[in-house]
Amino acid sequence: MSTAIEPSIEDVGYRGLDELEARALEIIKSRGNEGIYQHELWKALGLDSREGSRLTLRLLKKGLIVREPAVHRGRRTYKLYLAKQVKQQVRLEVRIGNALEIPCFTCKNLEKCHSGGFFDPINCPMFGAWLNTKIRMLRRAMQS
Ligand code: SF4
Repeated sequence: MSTAIEPSIEDVGYRGLDELEARALEIIKSRGNEGIYQHELWKALGLDSREGSRLTLRLLKKGLIVREPAVHRGRRTYKLYLAKQVKQQVRLEVRIGNALEIPCFTCKNLEKCHSGGFFDPINCPMFGAWLNTKIRMLRRAMQS
């Protein structure tokens, strides 16, 4: 028997990002398959080229975006796209054999924990850390 957890794109892709990174991803996402020139993104975020380059590199390192060389008005630049693994909905299989590793099963606050409550899975660092570990494992598996 297994239970499937299907986080939304926001749950998967944007968890653990700072506000600037999340805003950048929203803008890149809104351009869809067309992508966005990196200087356009930086301008939309009010960043200079140095800050923009750092932001782009962070998102690339996290595997959240991809970039392709492009030419804009005769100048070489990059176009940025949302990475495929962020676009795809992630299906995370949790088998009962592994269920004991889920922090909630041994949590003393389980009965008081619910959406919108003082104990809330959305804000729980233990649950978030467990879920992030699973997502990292899944991403590694998708890349291999
Ligand atoms: S989400 Fe956190 S607080 Fe809630 S039951 Fe799970 S481990 Fe406990």
